[in-house]
Amino acid sequence: MSKIKYHPDTMTLIEFSAGVLPPAVAICVAAHVHYCDQCRNELLRLDQVASQLMKSSGSTEISVDLFKRVEEAIDKIPEDTFNETFSPAEGNFPPIVSKLMQGNLQSQSWKKMSSSVEKATLKTGQSEYEVALHKICAGGKTPKHGHGGKEYTVVLKGSFSDEMSVYSEGDFLLREDGEEHQPTGAQNGECICLSALQAPIKLSNPFGFLMKPWLRINPI
Ligand SMILES: [Zn+2]
Repeated sequence: MSKIKYHPDTMTLIEFSAGVLPPAVAICVAAHVHYCDQCRNELLRLDQVASQLMKSSGSTEISVDLFKRVEEAIDKIPEDTFNETFSPAEGNFPPIVSKLMQGNLQSQSWKKMSSSVEKATLKTGQSEYEVALHKICAGGKTPKHGHGGKEYTVVLKGSFSDEMSVYSEGDFLLREDGEEHQPTGAQNGECICLSALQAPIKLSNPFGFLMKPWLRINPI
């Protein structure tokens, strides 16, 4: 039984299935689907519906391989972003994340964001979103922050909590413009998340200027 509680909404799955999501968001959905049987089945169902529609409209073009579309989104990433030496999946990491990491967790260039959070930016060849790994140490608190745009997060390892809930491996979260939260790592081990951040976050803390790294995103 899957413990996943938070999933992309149906519209996001439809857009993923149609191949029209921005690559950074598609990467997050693909990462979630790696863990989530429920969404994988829903995507297959959507794909069958699309095939039926095409058949009934007389189109001979039937697309059955939905995951090809993710590959296509990934293919838009410039070739030189990847080298061929990436290691096989890190633990139970989704293949797309392993591919973007081009190595293991230790080989990433981690930047300290605060005493308990480190960030490693992943190259995706697009500038609308910054895609990065965040590592929160056990029990570590991130600064309370709001967002100037959308923030997608997928938990890859461990768990964290905020004012609303606890999020575990595979959970998919979307924070919208204007929402505030303060994620805290679980006590029992470090938490690693994949995130796609649309615009620089806004710090709620008046001393936020002391934490300048949080104010920048580094699209590559
Ligand atoms: Zn799901």
